[in-house]
Amino acid sequence: MPCEAQPRFLVLYGSQKGQAQSIAEGIAEEAQDHGLGAELSCLSENEKYNLEKENAPVVFILSTTGDGEPPDNALQFVKRIKKKTLSTDHYKHLCYALLALGDTNYANFCNCGKTVERRLQELGATQFYAAGYADDGVGLEVVLDPWLEGLWKAIKGALSIMASDSKGESRDLPKETPDSQISDVKLDLLSLSDEQNCKSLTASVDSDSKYAPVASSSASPGSRGTDSVSTSALQTQAGAAEVPHVALAASLTCSLPPLSECALNVPALPPPYLDVSLQDVGTIEQIVEQPNKESLHEVPVNRAVHLTSGDSVKPALLLELDISAQPTIAYKPGDSFDVFCPNRAAEVEEMLHRLGLHDQRNCHVHVSLKKDHKKRGAQVPPYIPQSISLQYLFTWCLEIRSVPKKAFLRALVEHTADGVQRRRLQELCSKQGAADYNLYMRDPGLGVSELLAAFPSCSPPLRLLIEHVPRLQPRPYSAASSCLKHPGKLHFVFNVVEFPACFGRPAGRRGLCTGWLFDLINRGLVFPERVERSGSPALPKIHVSLRPNCSFRPPSDLSLPFIMVGPGTGVAPFIGFLQQRERERQANPEAAFGETWLFFGCRHRDGDYLFREELEGFVTSGVLNHLKVCFSRDDPEQEEQKEVATSVARPRYVQHNLLLNSRDVTEILLKRNGYLYVCGDAKNMAKDVNDTLMEMVRAELQVDQLEAMKRLAGLREEKRYLQDIWG
Ligand code: FAD
Repeated sequence: MPCEAQPRFLVLYGSQKGQAQSIAEGIAEEAQDHGLGAELSCLSENEKYNLEKENAPVVFILSTTGDGEPPDNALQFVKRIKKKTLSTDHYKHLCYALLALGDTNYANFCNCGKTVERRLQELGATQFYAAGYADDGVGLEVVLDPWLEGLWKAIKGALSIMASDSKGESRDLPKETPDSQISDVKLDLLSLSDEQNCKSLTASVDSDSKYAPVASSSASPGSRGTDSVSTSALQTQAGAAEVPHVALAASLTCSLPPLSECALNVPALPPPYLDVSLQDVGTIEQIVEQPNKESLHEVPVNRAVHLTSGDSVKPALLLELDISAQPTIAYKPGDSFDVFCPNRAAEVEEMLHRLGLHDQRNCHVHVSLKKDHKKRGAQVPPYIPQSISLQYLFTWCLEIRSVPKKAFLRALVEHTADGVQRRRLQELCSKQGAADYNLYMRDPGLGVSELLAAFPSCSPPLRLLIEHVPRLQPRPYSAASSCLKHPGKLHFVFNVVEFPACFGRPAGRRGLCTGWLFDLINRGLVFPERVERSGSPALPKIHVSLRPNCSFRPPSDLSLPFIMVGPGTGVAPFIGFLQQRERERQANPEAAFGETWLFFGCRHRDGDYLFREELEGFVTSGVLNHLKVCFSRDDPEQEEQKEVATSVARPRYVQHNLLLNSRDVTEILLKRNGYLYVCGDAKNMAKDVNDTLMEMVRAELQVDQLEAMKRLAGLREEKRYLQDIWG
C-alpha cells in the first residue's frame, strides 16, 4: 500500500500477453523513487478503483489484440465507457495520461488505446500528458522510453494543479509532452570506471571497415586483465579456445565501439518477489495434467493431409479433429481455436541441464510470494498449478523460447560471473544498446536457452526464470470447415514454420506448435498424390479450446455480397464460409444469395494451390461466383492466366488481382452494402491489401488519401471490412 503522506495516482492496465501489465508494474514500482504512491489495478478489477469519483491522476497502459480488439481484461471497461447514455461531463473530474501498445504490422494500430482515449475525451476527461503509441513492430522502447521519462514530471505537474484546484474550479492543465532527448531520468547509470563492467573488447578500429580488427593487447584505458577478458569474449563468440584475440564484428556476445565504450543507461533492477523451493517427493511423476482443464478438450486427430507438394513451397498440412464427443465445441465459420502444445522435450532437457537442475526434474516445485517483496501487484503466476514437477513446469507452463525482455536481461546481469558477459548483457538491455537488442535478439527470435548457451557464465536461479519467462501460450488456428458439412469434425490448416540458423542458434528449427504437430502426425500423414498405404498408424490426441470470433462471420443477411481475400493458409476460414453457404443454398434453393468472391494466391499452381479441387467445385456449383487466383513464382510463359486479359501485367499477389477488379470490389463495398474479409499474413499481405483498397477507394470516389482512409475506417466501424490476421 502506498504511504498515506505521499501524493497518490492510479495506474490501470489492460494487457493480453503481459507487456502492458509489466510496464504498469514498472511505473508503480518506480513511483516510490519519485516520492509518489501508485495504486495499481488491472482494468478488470473494478472493485479496486472508482473512476467516477477519482480525484488523483490516472495513468492507463493499454495493449491491443486481435483485429484491434481490447485485451480480454479490458473488454468490460471499454464496454462500460462506450455506453451512449454517459453524459459529456461524466469524466469531467478525471485527469489522465495514456500509453497505448500496438503493432503497426496490424491495421488497427493501438486501436484499444485510441478508443479509450477518444471516449475519455468525449466524456470530458482532461489529458495531462500527451498519449504515447508504442509500436512493437519496430520496438516498443522507441516511444516507451521517452514517454516513461517524461511521465513523472507530468504526474507531479498534474498533482500540484489538482491540489490547488481542490475547490473544483475549472482547471487548465498544461499538457506535457514526452521528451525525446532523454536526460534527467533516474536510471542505474553504469560508469566506465567500474572495471568489471568496462573491459572493452576493442581498442583500435579501422574506421573504413565494419569488420574491424581488434588488438587484444591494447585494452581500453583503465581496464585490467585484458587478455582474459578478450579471450573469454572471443571464445564465446567463436566457440574456439585457440582463436587469437581478434574480434571480427559485433555479435550477440560482442560489441564494438562506440557501444562497447560508452556509459549505459540500464533499466532498474526488477525486485525479486517469489520464493521457489524444490521438494523431492521420491516418485516419478507422469506428466498427464494440462493447464486450464475447464475449457480444454482432448480430441483425437482423425486425419492429417499434406496439402502441398515440392520443395519450393512452405509445407501446409490439414488436420481433421474428431469433436463428436465434445458437444460444447459448437464452432462457426470464422471462429478459431487454441491448440495447447508443450515445449520440445529436448529443449526442456537442455534447459534443466543448463540450470544444473536435471537431477531434480521430478521434484515438486513450490512457488510462493516472498515476504516483504517490493513488487507492486505481485502474485504467484496463476498459470503454475500446485504440486507440479520441475519437468512439468518447463514443459507446459513457461514459454522457454520467448525472447527475454530487457528487464530479464537486467536481472541476469546479477547472476553472471564473467565481466565481459556482464557488460554485454548490460549493453543489450540498455538504451544505448537498443539496436543491438533488436538485431541480435528480437529479430532472430532468440530464446532464453539460446541466450544462456551464449553466456555460459550466467547461472540464474530457478526463481528468476519463473519471475520473467512468460506463460506458454496456446496457438490459435482458424477453423477451415463448417460443421454443417462436416458434423462432429473440425478442420484446420497450417504452414510448418521454419526458423533459419543464426548467430546464437547453430541449427535451424521449426515453430514450436507447428513443429510439434508435424512430428505428432508425421507417420500418419496422407499424401493425396501418393497411393495410400493400408493400415496407417493411429493418430494422436491433442488439447484444444474454442476461441469464438463474433465479428469475423459471413453476413447474416444472405442476400449481401461478400469478398474474401485469403492467400496461402489465409484461405482457411473461407473454406468454412463456402461450405456453410453450400449447405444454406441446398436448404433454401429459392432464396436470393449475394455474390461471393475469393481472392487466393500462392507460389505455384502445382505446388501450394490449397483446396484447389474444392474451390473449383464451389465455382461449378455456383456457391463461389468469382475465384481470382494468382501465383507469385510461376513462370509466366507456362502460366495459363485465363482470367486475366493478356494486355494487363500478370498479377502476382492478391492485391494485384483486387486492383484488376477494382470496379466490382468498390461497388460491392461502397454501393451494395457488401463485406470484405482478409485473412492470413499480417506483416506484408494485410498491409498491401489495405493500401491497395485505399487506392481503389480514392480513385473510385475521386477523393484524397485522407478521405479514402476515413471511408475504410468507416467500413471497419460498420464491421464490413474485417481482418483475421497473424504472423
Ligand atoms: P512459434 O514458435 O510460436 O514462432 C512464431 C513466430 O514465427 C512468430 O512470432 C512469427 O514472427 C514467426 N513466423 C514465421 N512464419 C510464420 C507463420 N506462417 N505464421 C505465424 N508466425 C510465423 N496459422 C496457420 O498456419 N493457420 C491458421 O489458420 C492460423 N490461424 C490463426 C488465427 C489467429 C486468430 C491467430 C492469432 C493466429 C493464427 N495462426 C494461424 C498463427 C498460429 O497461431 C501460430 O502463430 C503459427 O502456427 C506459428 O506457431 P508456432 O508455435 O509453430 O511458431
